[in-house]
Amino acid sequence: MGVTPGHDVVVVGGGIIGLAVAWRAAGAGRDVAVVDPDPGRGATWAAAGMLAPVAEAHFGEESLTALNVAAGRAWPDFARDLEAATGRTVHFRRDGTLLVAGDPSDRTATDRVLAFHQAMGLAAVRLGRSACREAEPLLSPRISGGVDLPDDHQVDNRAVATALLDACRTAGVTMIPDRVTRVGSAGGRVTGVVLAEGGSVGAASVVLAAGSRSGEVGGVPDSCRPPVRPVRGVTLRLRAPDGVPCLRRTVRALVHGRSCYLVPRDDGGLVLGATVEERGDGLEVPLGGVADLVEDARRVVPVLDEYSLLEVSPGLRPGTPDNGPIVGPTDLVGLLVATGHYRNGILLAPVTAAEVVALLDSDDCGTPPGLGPFAAFRPDRFAARGAGS
Ligand SMILES: Cc1cc2nc3c(=O)[nH]c(=O)nc-3n(C[C@H](O)[C@H](O)[C@H](O)COP(=O)(O)OP(=O)(O)OC[C@H]3O[C@@H](n4cnc5c(N)ncnc54)[C@H](O)[C@@H]3O)c2cc1C
Repeated sequence: MGVTPGHDVVVVGGGIIGLAVAWRAAGAGRDVAVVDPDPGRGATWAAAGMLAPVAEAHFGEESLTALNVAAGRAWPDFARDLEAATGRTVHFRRDGTLLVAGDPSDRTATDRVLAFHQAMGLAAVRLGRSACREAEPLLSPRISGGVDLPDDHQVDNRAVATALLDACRTAGVTMIPDRVTRVGSAGGRVTGVVLAEGGSVGAASVVLAAGSRSGEVGGVPDSCRPPVRPVRGVTLRLRAPDGVPCLRRTVRALVHGRSCYLVPRDDGGLVLGATVEERGDGLEVPLGGVADLVEDARRVVPVLDEYSLLEVSPGLRPGTPDNGPIVGPTDLVGLLVATGHYRNGILLAPVTAAEVVALLDSDDCGTPPGLGPFAAFRPDRFAARGAGS
Protein backbone atom coordinates (compact mmCIF):
# COMPACT_ATOMS: atom_id res chain seq x y z
CA MET A 1 0.00 0.00 0.00
CA GLY A 2 2.07 2.92 -1.15
CA VAL A 3 1.67 6.21 -2.87
CA THR A 4 0.65 5.85 -6.51
CA PRO A 5 2.80 8.14 -8.65
CA GLY A 6 1.44 11.65 -8.90
CA HIS A 7 -0.99 12.85 -11.54
CA ASP A 8 -1.82 16.37 -12.59
CA VAL A 9 -5.44 15.78 -11.62
CA VAL A 10 -7.30 13.16 -9.59
CA VAL A 11 -11.07 13.09 -10.04
CA VAL A 12 -13.05 11.67 -7.12
CA GLY A 13 -16.09 9.97 -8.65
CA GLY A 14 -16.67 8.58 -12.13
CA GLY A 15 -20.29 9.49 -12.78
CA ILE A 16 -21.10 11.55 -15.86
CA ILE A 17 -19.61 14.65 -14.23
CA GLY A 18 -16.30 13.09 -13.16
CA LEU A 19 -15.88 11.18 -16.43
CA ALA A 20 -16.66 14.22 -18.58
CA VAL A 21 -14.18 16.30 -16.58
CA ALA A 22 -11.52 13.57 -16.81
CA TRP A 23 -11.96 13.10 -20.55
CA ARG A 24 -11.83 16.80 -21.36
CA ALA A 25 -8.90 17.42 -18.97
CA ALA A 26 -6.93 14.55 -20.54
CA GLY A 27 -7.77 15.94 -23.98
CA ALA A 28 -6.29 19.26 -22.83
CA GLY A 29 -2.99 17.51 -22.12
CA ARG A 30 -3.31 16.68 -18.42
CA ASP A 31 -2.30 13.43 -16.75
CA VAL A 32 -5.59 12.40 -15.10
CA ALA A 33 -6.78 9.62 -12.79
CA VAL A 34 -10.38 8.81 -11.81
CA VAL A 35 -11.07 7.01 -8.54
CA ASP A 36 -14.44 5.22 -8.32
CA PRO A 37 -15.38 1.69 -7.19
CA ASP A 38 -18.17 1.50 -9.80
CA PRO A 39 -17.74 4.19 -12.46
CA GLY A 40 -20.55 5.10 -14.83
CA ARG A 41 -23.27 3.90 -12.48
CA GLY A 42 -24.67 6.06 -9.66
CA ALA A 43 -27.37 8.56 -10.60
CA THR A 44 -25.93 8.66 -14.11
CA TRP A 45 -27.18 5.11 -14.78
CA ALA A 46 -30.66 5.68 -13.30
CA ALA A 47 -31.31 8.94 -15.17
CA ALA A 48 -33.62 9.37 -18.16
CA GLY A 49 -31.29 11.48 -20.29
CA MET A 50 -33.60 14.44 -20.84
CA LEU A 51 -31.78 17.62 -21.83
CA ALA A 52 -34.51 19.91 -20.66
CA PRO A 53 -33.55 23.54 -19.97
CA VAL A 54 -37.10 24.70 -20.64
CA ALA A 55 -39.19 22.07 -18.85
CA GLU A 56 -36.80 22.37 -15.89
CA ALA A 57 -37.10 26.16 -15.71
CA HIS A 58 -38.79 27.10 -12.44
CA PHE A 59 -39.94 30.32 -10.84
CA GLY A 60 -37.12 31.97 -8.90
CA GLU A 61 -34.36 29.97 -10.65
CA GLU A 62 -33.48 32.37 -13.47
CA SER A 63 -29.65 31.95 -13.12
CA LEU A 64 -30.03 28.19 -13.18
CA THR A 65 -32.24 28.42 -16.25
CA ALA A 66 -29.62 30.55 -18.03
CA LEU A 67 -26.99 27.93 -17.17
CA ASN A 68 -29.25 25.12 -18.33
CA VAL A 69 -29.94 26.88 -21.64
CA ALA A 70 -26.17 27.29 -22.20
CA ALA A 71 -25.77 23.60 -21.31
CA GLY A 72 -28.35 22.56 -23.88
CA ARG A 73 -26.47 24.47 -26.57
CA ALA A 74 -23.23 22.68 -25.67
CA TRP A 75 -24.66 19.19 -26.20
CA PRO A 76 -24.46 18.86 -30.01
CA ASP A 77 -20.68 19.46 -30.05
CA PHE A 78 -20.11 17.30 -26.98
CA ALA A 79 -22.06 14.39 -28.50
CA ARG A 80 -20.26 14.79 -31.81
CA ASP A 81 -16.81 14.83 -30.13
CA LEU A 82 -17.63 11.83 -27.95
CA GLU A 83 -18.93 9.82 -30.90
CA ALA A 84 -15.85 10.74 -32.95
CA ALA A 85 -13.54 9.73 -30.09
CA THR A 86 -15.17 6.35 -29.54
CA GLY A 87 -17.03 5.30 -32.67
CA ARG A 88 -20.10 4.81 -30.45
CA THR A 89 -23.44 6.52 -30.85
CA VAL A 90 -24.90 8.29 -27.81
CA HIS A 91 -28.35 8.67 -29.40
CA PHE A 92 -28.56 12.45 -29.06
CA ARG A 93 -32.05 13.28 -30.38
CA ARG A 94 -33.46 16.69 -31.22
CA ASP A 95 -37.13 15.74 -31.31
CA GLY A 96 -38.24 18.31 -28.75
CA THR A 97 -40.65 17.58 -25.91
CA LEU A 98 -44.39 17.75 -25.43
CA LEU A 99 -45.69 18.84 -22.03
CA VAL A 100 -49.27 17.61 -21.67
CA ALA A 101 -51.98 18.33 -19.12
CA GLY A 102 -53.98 15.38 -17.82
CA ASP A 103 -57.12 17.33 -16.83
CA PRO A 104 -58.46 20.91 -16.86
CA SER A 105 -56.79 21.87 -13.56
CA ASP A 106 -53.46 20.54 -14.89
CA ARG A 107 -54.15 22.69 -17.95
CA THR A 108 -54.36 25.77 -15.75
CA ALA A 109 -50.99 24.82 -14.27
CA THR A 110 -49.34 24.21 -17.66
CA ASP A 111 -50.71 27.58 -18.87
CA ARG A 112 -49.03 29.28 -15.89
CA VAL A 113 -45.76 27.53 -16.72
CA LEU A 114 -46.16 28.51 -20.37
CA ALA A 115 -46.54 32.19 -19.43
CA PHE A 116 -43.38 31.93 -17.30
CA HIS A 117 -41.44 30.29 -20.14
CA GLN A 118 -42.55 32.92 -22.62
CA ALA A 119 -41.69 35.75 -20.20
CA MET A 120 -38.18 34.24 -19.94
CA GLY A 121 -37.89 34.19 -23.75
CA LEU A 122 -37.84 30.37 -23.83
CA ALA A 123 -39.36 28.49 -26.77
CA ALA A 124 -42.80 27.22 -25.71
CA VAL A 125 -45.99 27.07 -27.77
CA ARG A 126 -49.50 26.32 -26.48
CA LEU A 127 -51.20 23.39 -28.22
CA GLY A 128 -54.79 22.23 -28.16
CA ARG A 129 -55.71 18.62 -27.57
CA SER A 130 -55.91 17.67 -31.22
CA ALA A 131 -52.62 19.41 -32.08
CA CYS A 132 -50.98 17.42 -29.27
CA ARG A 133 -52.42 14.18 -30.62
CA GLU A 134 -51.35 15.06 -34.13
CA ALA A 135 -47.81 15.57 -32.89
CA GLU A 136 -47.97 12.42 -30.76
CA PRO A 137 -50.73 10.00 -31.83
CA LEU A 138 -50.25 7.73 -28.81
CA LEU A 139 -51.61 10.38 -26.43
CA SER A 140 -54.97 9.68 -24.85
CA PRO A 141 -58.02 11.58 -26.18
CA ARG A 142 -58.70 12.48 -22.51
CA ILE A 143 -55.74 14.88 -22.18
CA SER A 144 -56.55 18.58 -21.87
CA GLY A 145 -53.97 19.97 -24.28
CA GLY A 146 -50.34 20.85 -23.81
CA VAL A 147 -47.25 22.83 -24.69
CA ASP A 148 -44.65 22.19 -27.38
CA LEU A 149 -41.09 22.64 -26.05
CA PRO A 150 -38.97 22.43 -29.23
CA ASP A 151 -35.63 23.11 -27.48
CA ASP A 152 -35.79 20.25 -24.95
CA HIS A 153 -34.01 17.19 -26.29
CA GLN A 154 -32.61 13.88 -25.05
CA VAL A 155 -29.60 11.58 -25.09
CA ASP A 156 -29.16 7.97 -23.99
CA ASN A 157 -27.38 8.61 -20.68
CA ARG A 158 -26.19 5.00 -20.38
CA ALA A 159 -24.68 5.15 -23.86
CA VAL A 160 -22.97 8.40 -22.83
CA ALA A 161 -21.53 6.82 -19.66
CA THR A 162 -20.23 3.83 -21.62
CA ALA A 163 -18.73 6.08 -24.30
CA LEU A 164 -17.09 8.32 -21.69
CA LEU A 165 -15.46 5.30 -20.04
CA ASP A 166 -14.10 4.28 -23.45
CA ALA A 167 -13.01 7.81 -24.28
CA CYS A 168 -11.22 8.17 -20.94
CA ARG A 169 -9.28 4.95 -21.49
CA THR A 170 -8.31 6.00 -25.01
CA ALA A 171 -7.21 9.42 -23.75
CA GLY A 172 -4.92 7.76 -21.21
CA VAL A 173 -6.95 8.42 -18.05
CA THR A 174 -5.96 6.04 -15.24
CA MET A 175 -9.06 4.35 -13.74
CA ILE A 176 -8.62 3.36 -10.08
CA PRO A 177 -11.41 1.05 -8.81
CA ASP A 178 -11.46 2.22 -5.22
CA ARG A 179 -13.22 4.69 -2.93
CA VAL A 180 -11.61 7.91 -1.71
CA THR A 181 -11.77 8.28 2.07
CA ARG A 182 -10.12 11.67 2.27
CA VAL A 183 -8.42 14.44 0.36
CA GLY A 184 -4.77 14.86 1.40
CA SER A 185 -3.32 18.32 1.95
CA ALA A 186 -0.28 20.09 3.37
CA GLY A 187 0.31 23.79 3.92
CA GLY A 188 -3.13 24.75 2.61
CA ARG A 189 -2.71 22.92 -0.72
CA VAL A 190 -3.97 19.52 -1.86
CA THR A 191 -1.47 16.70 -2.21
CA GLY A 192 -3.79 13.97 -3.55
CA VAL A 193 -6.30 11.49 -2.14
CA VAL A 194 -6.31 8.58 0.32
CA LEU A 195 -7.95 5.31 -0.79
CA ALA A 196 -10.25 3.00 1.20
CA GLU A 197 -8.27 -0.10 0.23
CA GLY A 198 -5.09 1.54 1.47
CA GLY A 199 -2.49 3.73 -0.18
CA SER A 200 -2.86 7.12 -1.72
CA VAL A 201 -2.66 8.86 -5.07
CA GLY A 202 -0.65 12.06 -5.42
CA ALA A 203 -2.00 14.95 -7.47
CA ALA A 204 -1.56 18.68 -7.94
CA SER A 205 -5.32 19.12 -8.28
CA VAL A 206 -8.28 17.15 -6.96
CA VAL A 207 -11.78 17.43 -8.44
CA LEU A 208 -14.50 16.36 -6.02
CA ALA A 209 -17.24 14.88 -8.22
CA ALA A 210 -18.71 12.14 -6.04
CA GLY A 211 -22.36 13.03 -6.71
CA SER A 212 -24.67 12.75 -3.71
CA ARG A 213 -21.74 11.51 -1.58
CA SER A 214 -19.52 14.51 -2.24
CA GLY A 215 -20.10 15.89 1.26
CA GLU A 216 -18.84 12.68 2.91
CA VAL A 217 -15.25 12.71 1.67
CA GLY A 218 -12.85 13.47 4.54
CA GLY A 219 -10.04 15.99 4.61
CA VAL A 220 -12.19 18.72 3.07
CA PRO A 221 -12.27 21.83 5.28
CA ASP A 222 -15.77 22.64 6.54
CA SER A 223 -15.68 25.89 4.59
CA CYS A 224 -15.32 23.91 1.32
CA ARG A 225 -17.57 20.94 2.05
CA PRO A 226 -20.35 20.90 -0.55
CA PRO A 227 -23.83 20.84 1.07
CA VAL A 228 -25.23 18.07 -1.11
CA ARG A 229 -27.95 15.68 -0.02
CA PRO A 230 -29.32 12.55 -1.70
CA VAL A 231 -32.72 12.94 -3.37
CA ARG A 232 -33.89 9.51 -4.44
CA GLY A 233 -35.50 8.96 -7.81
CA VAL A 234 -36.73 5.85 -9.56
CA THR A 235 -37.04 5.31 -13.30
CA LEU A 236 -38.59 2.30 -15.04
CA ARG A 237 -37.19 0.81 -18.24
CA LEU A 238 -39.93 -0.50 -20.54
CA ARG A 239 -39.97 -1.98 -24.02
CA ALA A 240 -42.60 -2.01 -26.76
CA PRO A 241 -43.07 -5.56 -28.08
CA ASP A 242 -42.85 -6.02 -31.86
CA GLY A 243 -45.81 -4.40 -33.58
CA VAL A 244 -46.68 -2.12 -30.65
CA PRO A 245 -46.08 1.55 -31.50
CA CYS A 246 -43.47 3.78 -29.82
CA LEU A 247 -43.66 7.44 -28.85
CA ARG A 248 -42.11 9.84 -31.36
CA ARG A 249 -40.64 12.19 -28.77
CA THR A 250 -40.32 12.82 -25.06
CA VAL A 251 -43.63 13.42 -23.31
CA ARG A 252 -43.78 15.12 -19.93
CA ALA A 253 -47.15 15.11 -18.23
CA LEU A 254 -48.92 16.74 -15.35
CA VAL A 255 -51.65 14.41 -14.07
CA HIS A 256 -53.78 15.54 -11.11
CA GLY A 257 -50.86 17.80 -10.16
CA ARG A 258 -48.26 15.01 -10.29
CA SER A 259 -45.42 15.01 -12.82
CA CYS A 260 -44.14 12.13 -14.89
CA TYR A 261 -42.19 11.75 -18.12
CA LEU A 262 -41.81 9.19 -20.87
CA VAL A 263 -38.59 9.19 -22.89
CA PRO A 264 -38.52 6.94 -25.99
CA ARG A 265 -35.26 5.34 -27.09
CA ASP A 266 -34.17 4.54 -30.61
CA ASP A 267 -34.35 0.78 -30.00
CA GLY A 268 -38.02 0.59 -28.93
CA GLY A 269 -37.16 1.13 -25.27
CA LEU A 270 -38.85 3.73 -23.09
CA VAL A 271 -37.77 5.33 -19.82
CA LEU A 272 -40.60 6.23 -17.47
CA GLY A 273 -39.80 8.51 -14.56
CA ALA A 274 -39.46 9.59 -11.95
CA THR A 275 -40.18 9.61 -8.26
CA VAL A 276 -38.66 12.36 -6.06
CA GLU A 277 -38.08 11.33 -2.44
CA GLU A 278 -36.10 12.92 0.38
CA ARG A 279 -35.45 9.79 2.44
CA GLY A 280 -31.72 9.57 3.03
CA ASP A 281 -29.28 7.57 0.98
CA GLY A 282 -31.03 4.20 0.64
CA LEU A 283 -31.83 2.74 -2.77
CA GLU A 284 -35.07 1.05 -1.74
CA VAL A 285 -38.02 1.35 -4.13
CA PRO A 286 -41.31 2.09 -2.34
CA LEU A 287 -44.14 0.55 -4.33
CA GLY A 288 -46.51 3.49 -3.84
CA GLY A 289 -44.35 5.92 -5.80
CA VAL A 290 -43.90 3.46 -8.66
CA ALA A 291 -47.64 2.70 -8.72
CA ASP A 292 -48.47 6.43 -8.99
CA LEU A 293 -45.96 6.83 -11.79
CA VAL A 294 -47.39 3.93 -13.78
CA GLU A 295 -50.98 5.06 -13.21
CA ASP A 296 -50.22 8.63 -14.37
CA ALA A 297 -48.26 7.49 -17.42
CA ARG A 298 -51.01 5.04 -18.50
CA ARG A 299 -53.56 7.82 -18.23
CA VAL A 300 -51.76 9.93 -20.85
CA VAL A 301 -50.35 7.08 -23.00
CA PRO A 302 -52.77 4.13 -22.71
CA VAL A 303 -50.79 1.84 -25.05
CA LEU A 304 -48.25 1.48 -22.23
CA ASP A 305 -50.42 -1.38 -20.97
CA GLU A 306 -48.89 -3.50 -23.72
CA TYR A 307 -45.28 -2.63 -22.91
CA SER A 308 -42.98 -4.96 -20.96
CA LEU A 309 -41.34 -3.85 -17.74
CA LEU A 310 -37.60 -4.58 -17.95
CA GLU A 311 -36.00 -2.78 -15.05
CA VAL A 312 -36.59 -0.60 -12.01
CA SER A 313 -33.66 1.79 -11.48
CA PRO A 314 -33.28 3.82 -8.30
CA GLY A 315 -30.66 6.57 -8.08
CA LEU A 316 -29.63 9.41 -5.78
CA ARG A 317 -29.69 12.89 -7.26
CA PRO A 318 -27.12 15.22 -5.68
CA GLY A 319 -29.47 17.91 -4.36
CA THR A 320 -28.34 21.31 -3.06
CA PRO A 321 -30.01 24.01 -0.93
CA ASP A 322 -30.83 26.18 -3.97
CA ASN A 323 -31.14 23.39 -6.57
CA GLY A 324 -28.10 24.75 -8.44
CA PRO A 325 -24.84 22.86 -9.05
CA ILE A 326 -21.69 23.57 -7.06
CA VAL A 327 -18.75 24.09 -9.41
CA GLY A 328 -15.51 25.92 -8.80
CA PRO A 329 -12.44 26.44 -6.66
CA THR A 330 -12.34 26.24 -2.87
CA ASP A 331 -10.28 27.70 -0.01
CA LEU A 332 -8.04 24.62 -0.20
CA VAL A 333 -5.68 25.41 -3.08
CA GLY A 334 -5.95 22.79 -5.82
CA LEU A 335 -9.32 21.44 -4.66
CA LEU A 336 -12.13 21.96 -7.14
CA VAL A 337 -15.73 20.94 -6.60
CA ALA A 338 -18.02 19.72 -9.41
CA THR A 339 -21.17 18.36 -7.87
CA GLY A 340 -24.74 19.13 -6.82
CA HIS A 341 -26.20 18.83 -10.32
CA TYR A 342 -29.46 17.56 -8.86
CA ARG A 343 -32.05 16.96 -11.63
CA ASN A 344 -29.85 18.18 -14.50
CA GLY A 345 -26.48 16.45 -14.31
CA ILE A 346 -26.78 14.85 -17.73
CA LEU A 347 -27.69 18.20 -19.27
CA LEU A 348 -24.92 20.04 -17.38
CA ALA A 349 -22.03 17.58 -17.91
CA PRO A 350 -20.51 19.22 -21.03
CA VAL A 351 -20.49 22.76 -19.62
CA THR A 352 -19.28 21.56 -16.23
CA ALA A 353 -16.35 19.75 -17.83
CA ALA A 354 -15.48 22.84 -19.87
CA GLU A 355 -15.64 25.03 -16.76
CA VAL A 356 -13.45 22.72 -14.69
CA VAL A 357 -10.84 22.43 -17.43
CA ALA A 358 -10.77 26.25 -17.70
CA LEU A 359 -10.35 26.50 -13.91
CA LEU A 360 -7.53 23.94 -13.96
CA ASP A 361 -5.79 26.18 -16.49
CA SER A 362 -6.09 29.22 -14.24
CA ASP A 363 -3.59 30.02 -11.46
CA ASP A 364 -3.66 27.48 -8.62
CA CYS A 365 -7.23 26.59 -9.56
CA GLY A 366 -8.07 29.70 -7.60
CA THR A 367 -8.84 32.36 -10.15
CA PRO A 368 -12.11 31.84 -11.98
CA PRO A 369 -11.72 32.91 -15.60
CA GLY A 370 -14.20 35.75 -15.81
CA LEU A 371 -17.81 35.51 -14.87
CA GLY A 372 -19.67 33.18 -17.19
CA PRO A 373 -22.74 31.06 -16.51
CA PHE A 374 -21.23 29.37 -13.43
CA ALA A 375 -20.61 32.64 -11.58
CA ALA A 376 -23.75 32.12 -9.49
CA PHE A 377 -22.82 28.53 -8.69
CA ARG A 378 -19.46 28.77 -6.90
CA PRO A 379 -18.86 26.64 -3.78
CA ASP A 380 -18.49 29.68 -1.52
CA ARG A 381 -22.03 30.98 -2.13
CA PHE A 382 -23.50 29.06 0.81
CA ALA A 383 -20.91 30.38 3.28
CA ALA A 384 -21.56 33.88 1.90
CA ARG A 385 -25.26 33.45 2.68
CA GLY A 386 -24.36 32.23 6.14
CA ALA A 387 -26.73 29.30 5.59
CA GLY A 388 -24.69 26.32 4.58
CA SER A 389 -27.78 24.24 4.09
C1 LIG B 1 -34.20 8.94 -11.42
C2 LIG B 1 -33.31 10.03 -11.95
C3 LIG B 1 -33.60 10.61 -13.16
C4 LIG B 1 -32.79 11.62 -13.66
N1 LIG B 1 -33.04 12.13 -14.91
C5 LIG B 1 -32.24 13.10 -15.41
C6 LIG B 1 -32.46 13.60 -16.72
O1 LIG B 1 -33.36 13.16 -17.43
N2 LIG B 1 -31.64 14.58 -17.17
C7 LIG B 1 -30.62 15.10 -16.41
O2 LIG B 1 -29.92 16.01 -16.87
N3 LIG B 1 -30.38 14.61 -15.17
C8 LIG B 1 -31.16 13.64 -14.66
N4 LIG B 1 -30.93 13.15 -13.41
C9 LIG B 1 -29.87 13.74 -12.60
C10 LIG B 1 -28.51 13.19 -12.99
O3 LIG B 1 -28.59 11.79 -13.09
C11 LIG B 1 -27.47 13.58 -11.95
O4 LIG B 1 -27.51 14.97 -11.73
C12 LIG B 1 -26.09 13.19 -12.44
O5 LIG B 1 -26.03 11.82 -12.74
C13 LIG B 1 -25.04 13.53 -11.40
O6 LIG B 1 -23.82 13.02 -11.88
P1 LIG B 1 -22.60 12.80 -10.91
O7 LIG B 1 -21.49 12.30 -11.74
O8 LIG B 1 -22.40 14.04 -10.10
O9 LIG B 1 -23.14 11.72 -9.85
P2 LIG B 1 -23.30 10.15 -10.01
O10 LIG B 1 -23.75 9.77 -11.34
O11 LIG B 1 -24.12 9.70 -8.85
O12 LIG B 1 -21.82 9.62 -9.85
C14 LIG B 1 -21.11 9.78 -8.65
C15 LIG B 1 -20.02 8.74 -8.64
O13 LIG B 1 -19.19 8.98 -7.51
C16 LIG B 1 -18.77 7.75 -6.99
N5 LIG B 1 -18.37 7.96 -5.60
C17 LIG B 1 -19.15 8.31 -4.55
N6 LIG B 1 -18.39 8.44 -3.44
C18 LIG B 1 -17.11 8.18 -3.82
C19 LIG B 1 -15.87 8.18 -3.12
N7 LIG B 1 -15.79 8.46 -1.81
N8 LIG B 1 -14.76 7.85 -3.82
C20 LIG B 1 -14.81 7.58 -5.15
N9 LIG B 1 -15.97 7.59 -5.86
C21 LIG B 1 -17.09 7.90 -5.19
C22 LIG B 1 -19.97 6.83 -7.16
O14 LIG B 1 -19.57 5.47 -7.18
C23 LIG B 1 -20.53 7.31 -8.48
O15 LIG B 1 -20.07 6.53 -9.58
C24 LIG B 1 -31.69 12.09 -12.90
C25 LIG B 1 -31.38 11.48 -11.69
C26 LIG B 1 -32.18 10.45 -11.21
C27 LIG B 1 -31.81 9.78 -9.93
